[in-house]
Amino acid sequence: MNQLEDLLRDLVVANRVLAREDVVDAYGHISVRHPDNPKHFFLSRSLSPELVERRDLIEFDEMGEPVNDKRPPYLERFIHAAIFEARPDVQAVVHAHAEDTLPFGLVATPLVPVIHSAAFVGGAVPVWDIRDKFGDTNLLVTNMAQGRDLAGCLGAGKAALMRGHGFSAAAGSIFEVVRLAVYLPRNARVQMNAMRLGEPKPLSPGEIAARTASYKPHAPESWRAWEYWATRAGCGEPYRQAEG
Ligand code: MN
Repeated sequence: MNQLEDLLRDLVVANRVLAREDVVDAYGHISVRHPDNPKHFFLSRSLSPELVERRDLIEFDEMGEPVNDKRPPYLERFIHAAIFEARPDVQAVVHAHAEDTLPFGLVATPLVPVIHSAAFVGGAVPVWDIRDKFGDTNLLVTNMAQGRDLAGCLGAGKAALMRGHGFSAAAGSIFEVVRLAVYLPRNARVQMNAMRLGEPKPLSPGEIAARTASYKPHAPESWRAWEYWATRAGCGEPYRQAEG
């Protein structure tokens, strides 16, 4: 298989993983930048991630419009288009409604990394409120202006919460954005539980930097997570490593 087909296979698997790990349900989506045409990206047609197959993937242009495809797209594809536009370093984007993250979009208490596996979030997660600029809407990101405003809130970061709605996460690869999307809700759950007991002690900036510096994308301990998630989602076969 060529590089593009390998990437699109990974995107299908990532859809299944996010569903299996309860990051998404009927709603939520993941995209990857086109490796040969960096203004474009791939995203499923409007379909629950658990059901996505290779034939469901559509190429989109830089304005979030489908390229030569008449099937209904996700209404919120502009999240992906705007983040890819603003962030040349980003190769993959997730948008999800994971319930554990939602309280932190409603109150002043910030969502911060409190567990080692969420260090990659980088720091306090900013909250984007669509109402600040667009007034009363249906809360969905349905055009580029809204997507760009969200991308502005994300800034150079890894994730932004969306008030009353969910979160969007961005990273340098499909694997990294899946990892972010899996651990962000878990971090939120741990932080919330800790707050019931007292004042949580977040990771320090130095600890976050040390975690980030020691991360090696192709190390066995990194690969192990992808192999595990893909296998749990019923798609582990292409990734299973030979012994020895
Ligand atoms: Mn949404």
